[in-house]
Amino acid sequence: MLSIIQSFSPFLAKNRHFPHILELAPLPTAPKFAVHTEEPDAQIRASSPPEPTQNTAADMAPSSPFPKSSLPSSPDSRSISLPEAAYEGAIASSCKLPERDKELWYARGDLVLIAQGVEFRVFQGPIVDQSNIFRDMIGLPQPATPHGIPAESASTSYITLHLTDSVEDLRHFLRVFVGKSVCFGGLDPTFHEISALVRLGDKYECEAIIQRCVAYLKRFYHDDFDMWRDDEHVFSPPVFENIHAIGVVNLARLTHTDVILPGALMACCLLGAEIVDGFMREDGTPEMLSREDLGRCFLGRARILEANAKATLGILHQAVSPECTRPDRCHVFLPELLVRLEEHTDAICNLRWDFTWTGYIDMADRERELCMSCYRMLGKHGRQKEEHRKIFEKLPEMMGVKVEGWGERPPTEPEPQTDDGAT
Ligand SMILES: [Zn+2]
Repeated sequence: MLSIIQSFSPFLAKNRHFPHILELAPLPTAPKFAVHTEEPDAQIRASSPPEPTQNTAADMAPSSPFPKSSLPSSPDSRSISLPEAAYEGAIASSCKLPERDKELWYARGDLVLIAQGVEFRVFQGPIVDQSNIFRDMIGLPQPATPHGIPAESASTSYITLHLTDSVEDLRHFLRVFVGKSVCFGGLDPTFHEISALVRLGDKYECEAIIQRCVAYLKRFYHDDFDMWRDDEHVFSPPVFENIHAIGVVNLARLTHTDVILPGALMACCLLGAEIVDGFMREDGTPEMLSREDLGRCFLGRARILEANAKATLGILHQAVSPECTRPDRCHVFLPELLVRLEEHTDAICNLRWDFTWTGYIDMADRERELCMSCYRMLGKHGRQKEEHRKIFEKLPEMMGVKVEGWGERPPTEPEPQTDDGAT
């Protein structure tokens, strides 16, 4: 038993998810080895499974090297640290045969992963290539069977690992290694897929998977000013729901991707009261903002409203265009645009920093009192762009976060102006 602990120690020592060994005790179903930690979600047990009765095809996995008749009848080696109820629960759970996953169970697979009573059977190679943790777990020497025969020779062409992940998360994760992941297939993934891949990628040290997911999120939560103004999907990946912005914030925190935070927190500011409760992941676990980030959103909403009010006044500033062709009329009508704001408070009180005032100007100036030069001056490529840039540059500060190099981009060519420059 000591040798098993020693063989696990290097892997445990270097991974923050499995910081402690609290016990090491074989269960009555004769697992090869077991490691429990204080964190329920960080528990990994690696064992030979009980013989699955549903395995009938000739090419299915060999049966367990531990026939039931050879199993200890009483838990003589039970852990003194495991509560009695939990221990009995573990026994009951281990005695129940897992169900095969309908999607990810390959008869010729050489790695069996069991989570929440569901058995996945996949292939070691792609997973070992990507995951440091699986590489360590699978590479551990297999302890001898109760008959003294080394497990590898006695049993099997596959290894069984018991994981504490949810079935939903694990299914998303394993799809990557069999070419079924939407995220890795060039399509737009759901938030739940991205979330599962990042969280399990972090847990099992799959850096390439994490970076792929982070790159996807950065397409929508980034610091490119011009892209923000032109992208209709800014803040909201196509298949995400608005409430998922909360999860994006948490993924940014998990992966230390600060550049995602201003946009994701601002997207949270657009939510209603549901921002407090968050939402449920597919497996029923809650996804909520931390208290600190919730506080940032509380202040952020006020700062956005203030910034937009200032921007409105800046856009409707009373100076006419230097190229104004009808200064007499424009000097009279610009103040009128301010007066008419009283009936259109949406133009002042808006939480979107990239809100466009063009709709208000068109509505308030149906007779086109402004000359084209002044109209263009107030447009998307005129004062609106100036005000948007001011807000954009302050966005991290408004959201209460620091982002190194925010918005620092090489200067771009000036945008061509058109006759309808306000659109
Ligand atoms: Zn004018």
